[in-house]
Amino acid sequence: MASGGGGVEEVTNKQVLFKEYVSGFPKESDMHVSTSGTIKLKVPEGSNVILVKNLYLSCDPYMRPRMKQPTPGNQSYVDSFKPGSPIVGYGVAKVLDSGHPDFKKGDLIWGMTGWEEYSLITTTQGLFKIHHTDVPLSYYTGLLGMPGTTAYIGFYEICSPKKGEHVFISAASGAVGQLVGQFAKLSGCHVVGSAGSKEKVNLLKNKFGFDEAFNYKEEPDLAAALKRYFPEGIDIYFDNVGGKMLDAVLLNMRVHGRIAECGMISQYNLEQPEGVYNLMSVVWKQIRMEGFLVFEHYHLYPKFLEFVLPHIKEGKITYVEDIAEGLESAPAALIGLFTGRNVGKQVVVVARE
Ligand code: NAP
Repeated sequence: MASGGGGVEEVTNKQVLFKEYVSGFPKESDMHVSTSGTIKLKVPEGSNVILVKNLYLSCDPYMRPRMKQPTPGNQSYVDSFKPGSPIVGYGVAKVLDSGHPDFKKGDLIWGMTGWEEYSLITTTQGLFKIHHTDVPLSYYTGLLGMPGTTAYIGFYEICSPKKGEHVFISAASGAVGQLVGQFAKLSGCHVVGSAGSKEKVNLLKNKFGFDEAFNYKEEPDLAAALKRYFPEGIDIYFDNVGGKMLDAVLLNMRVHGRIAECGMISQYNLEQPEGVYNLMSVVWKQIRMEGFLVFEHYHLYPKFLEFVLPHIKEGKITYVEDIAEGLESAPAALIGLFTGRNVGKQVVVVARE
């Protein structure tokens, strides 16, 4: 630690910098951990920014589209990362200093922050103050943060579930999927999930209470596998992966089924997206297929908390996290999402307090 001008303490600020736009699968070397930066531990006089110490960072699949070079004809719903600047993403942080009237020193927040030890946050819109601290703080990157809200909105608002319905979830052991499955069980549905390893399949059945689960990597014919698990068809599909699985699901949907289009991770690293061939099923089975973006529904976050907190406290909802220690481990943790290395919600710990 050193003292900057005017007696303000200045410290080194380790950062994960985004190097260059990515095509194909991202690599650890697309990011660089730098220790050369410093930061003053005080917000500039008269500004309305806040200075935070980052505690937990979230690795999320949507960060891959942010690594793409922006092109005029291919607008994404999120801005690309800036080469040479820190990666930006969801995180949990503690306010160290604030020029903003709504935030004060000591507040805990979750929302957009930088992949670095300390961040100056200039846009406080979309930051949530953390009021419930009797749960692990890291949960605000997952269960009680963006992925949890996604599972809640996607399942209850988009899928309109009814007791006894048959629900299928892909990438089911991940940050979002593990919750959708548990919500579906709470709603009295029959729930089947797919995941990419034996360990994940075991988690689905033995920890999250899914009725059935299978390893999609061991199924040469996905449509036949789904037929085995849903002999009478699928009422609700919560799609996290898109691609071949979506095509196989379309063949196995029931009349008046619903598909929540949450994400399509199988397509994020492809230069040319795969085609979906069985869309005619949507017509003749009268399927409602609806995409959604969680941040358009954040006004429902308080309602979600009211719903989920008692379930956590009563032990009716459980959550598995995959914890990576330190900013040095962040690049590997992020790219691991695209090979299925993560078991549960991928979190990076920067500091615990
Ligand atoms: P996650 O499941 O924790 O991690 C990603 C998982 O996807 C991996 O562990 C891997 O699990 C699976 N995967 C990776 N590549 C795959 C491929 N080619 N084919 C099939 N599966 C693959 O991630 P998450 O945070 O819960 O996100 C799940 C989905 O929700 C993503 O598509 C994400 O973009 C989307 N999402 C959408 C919103 C929204 O607002 N709409 C918000 C949050 C997340 P396996 O080992 O099982 O393959």
